[in-house]
Amino acid sequence: MRTDVGHRMTWRGDRELLPGKWPQKMMGSARKRQFASDNWAGVCPEAWEAMQQARDDHAAAYGEDLWTQQASDLLREIFEIDCEVFFTFNGTAANALSLASLCRSYHSVIAHELAHIETDECGGPEFFSNGTKVLVVSGENGKLHSEQVEWMARRRTDIHYPRSRVVSVTQATEVGTVYRPEELDALRETARRCDLHVHMDGARFANALATLDVAPKEITWKIGVDVLCLGGTKNGLAVGDCVVFFRKELADEFAYRCKQAGQLASKMRFLSAPWVGLLSNDVWLKNARHANQMAQKLAASLNDVPGVAIMFPVEANSVFVQMPASMDAGLRSRGWVFHDFIGAGGARLMCSWDTQPEDVDEFVSDCREYA
Ligand SMILES: *Cc1c(COP(=O)(O)O)cnc(C)c1O
Repeated sequence: MRTDVGHRMTWRGDRELLPGKWPQKMMGSARKRQFASDNWAGVCPEAWEAMQQARDDHAAAYGEDLWTQQASDLLREIFEIDCEVFFTFNGTAANALSLASLCRSYHSVIAHELAHIETDECGGPEFFSNGTKVLVVSGENGKLHSEQVEWMARRRTDIHYPRSRVVSVTQATEVGTVYRPEELDALRETARRCDLHVHMDGARFANALATLDVAPKEITWKIGVDVLCLGGTKNGLAVGDCVVFFRKELADEFAYRCKQAGQLASKMRFLSAPWVGLLSNDVWLKNARHANQMAQKLAASLNDVPGVAIMFPVEANSVFVQMPASMDAGLRSRGWVFHDFIGAGGARLMCSWDTQPEDVDEFVSDCREYA
């Protein structure tokens, strides 16, 4: 049973659970940093500093403030287009609400079988769209391929089948691979032929961008992405993802969806100010580049450990490995935490903006102990 992601903590009657003491207890380990997920990491200093600056002043509520204005303008500069931006509390809401706004209830969204919208959002897209169905296809290395997308879109065209309206692409993918611009271009062409909107789940968009080293527009609106859900949480924010509509007309009435879904922050500036810290001076790319480099180091070191097999090309900040059960157990007995239910099985090791080379060395050395 999955007990490691639940938020319901039972009352322990434990008087030692005092502020400053409890986080380590909850991790079940004295380790400062883990490879469990990039959302286990804390807040990067630049985001924290911006939050601090926003702390004292009164400002207009519900996004009518200057921080929100500035964060939105930074995104328009970065993407080099006059886009519509909405800040949400998390990526599930960003995905579910943007897909709901692209679809009617009888439509469908084509996605990879490992896509977060299918496997990790508890039916959120279907719920917020009042019934839009997610149709999944398989594909090597967590990627959608044009042939399967087209097959699914054209499989049936009769009245009895949910009409395909969107193809949803995850960049970087759930297994830590990255779509190349030409792969996205091929999907755009398929989407055009099949009359589909293109939605991008960019929870780890920054990691993909750091790998590809291109202008953000080259892998978004210029190759046909209509809507991007851009992740901030896993890249150094405390909380917050955002929805970027590159085609402004698609954002019509989207603000009402956010409000109705409980995603309109009343003190919006505390969602948006950290974004200003993250997006200024390329901090978001610096964080992502660092996480990617740590994943490269981790993969290279694990490659030499007997019994460990790397499952997918390491192109972003995750390393998926198969390891012997005895090694898995040994690592856990030493306090390491990592998940094995995500993606295609195996242990998923996530690097973060704050992962240190020593963390990698320590983990790999522990792997060797149990090899
Ligand atoms: C983390 C993640 C999200 C967002 O998840 P939330 O927990 O709702 O913030 C969306 N897509 C992918 C691929 C993710 O990894």
